[in-house]
Amino acid sequence: MPLVVNLRQLESEPQDLSGELPAADLALERPDETLHLTHPLEHELTATLIDDAILLQGTLRLPMECDCVRCLKRFSFSLELSEFAAHLPLVGEDAVPVVDESVDLTPFLREDILLTLPQHPLCKPDCRGLSQLAAGGASGTNPQTNAGASPWAVLNELKLKE
Ligand SMILES: [Zn+2]
Repeated sequence: MPLVVNLRQLESEPQDLSGELPAADLALERPDETLHLTHPLEHELTATLIDDAILLQGTLRLPMECDCVRCLKRFSFSLELSEFAAHLPLVGEDAVPVVDESVDLTPFLREDILLTLPQHPLCKPDCRGLSQLAAGGASGTNPQTNAGASPWAVLNELKLKE
């Protein structure tokens, strides 16, 4: 469901806009390949009409999977905007587009989310990267070795186990 508010309804009372928005609807251009937007955006918003403008306030939450830029490990991350607020004028130069007495709010969420996306995701703040893993010994495999292994080697290994 697109995140749309009807101005007629908004004139009578503030509108509660809680739900989920498919991440695809946000049309976020991923800054790089380290972010995987596999979950919908969860929003709990209230739209209020104040002096020819829509005041949009609430919480946005976007769970996602990230690849750590240092050790390449995939980890879960949840982007949270707990005090999201947008002021959307309905008149004047900066007026937001109104179609059929309704305003699509999605573009105004997109900007804030884009600005908050992790630029260099880290599995933990002090991740020391691949060298740490290589020195880790028994725990975990070395991704460098794995990346170089041919698929046939993996197949052979499977056959041996049977
Ligand atoms: Zn890491």
